Amino acid sequence: MPVIGVLALQGDFVEHINMLDTLEVNSKEIRSKNQFKNIDGLIIPGGESTSIMRLIEIFDLKNEIISCSKKGMPIWGTCAGMIIVAQNIIHNESQDKVRKYDPLNLIDIDVNRNAFGRQIDSFEHDIDVEGLHDPYHSIFIRAPQVSRAGKNVEILASINKTKPVILKQDNILVSSFHPELTNDNRIHNLFMQMVLRR
Ligand code: GLN
Repeated sequence: MPVIGVLALQGDFVEHINMLDTLEVNSKEIRSKNQFKNIDGLIIPGGESTSIMRLIEIFDLKNEIISCSKKGMPIWGTCAGMIIVAQNIIHNESQDKVRKYDPLNLIDIDVNRNAFGRQIDSFEHDIDVEGLHDPYHSIFIRAPQVSRAGKNVEILASINKTKPVILKQDNILVSSFHPELTNDNRIHNLFMQMVLRR
């Protein structure tokens, strides 16, 4: 049985673990370098990307995550997690005071932080996802928008056919919404397909 590591520095890692439980998938909270051993996939949860990235640096986990990715381990970034694994982060003017950092560059996309608006602009939307039969009811909270996706990046779902919200490149999956906050484990199941096919 595969074990999924869930980066447990900040954000909604507990909700991801609960969702994996519904699929009877073993999970492990990851906070230090030596915990990356014996995991078969990694989830980087939503939360606050600046805080998560700062903690990744403090706990010196950056190279470990990059090396898992290079070895082909499936990695899934949700919301803040998607920002962290992107190639570039586009900041808008209101975020000028925010500490800037280089994301991990695991997937060939650029993301615009908080581009869907502030907390009050959070919304829910039914999306058609490649590989799923019925629409998926997705929750967006201060979500990032993908402003560029490279030619090798597959778009698995978009809003209004124009705004990609789930994308995949090789072993990296990203979603700008929060599947862990629903009762629907089908996106976690899609990630598990990537882990099991490896
Ligand atoms: N806006 C947050 C950030 O930039 C992400 C929000 C989320 O993960 N729900 O980190």
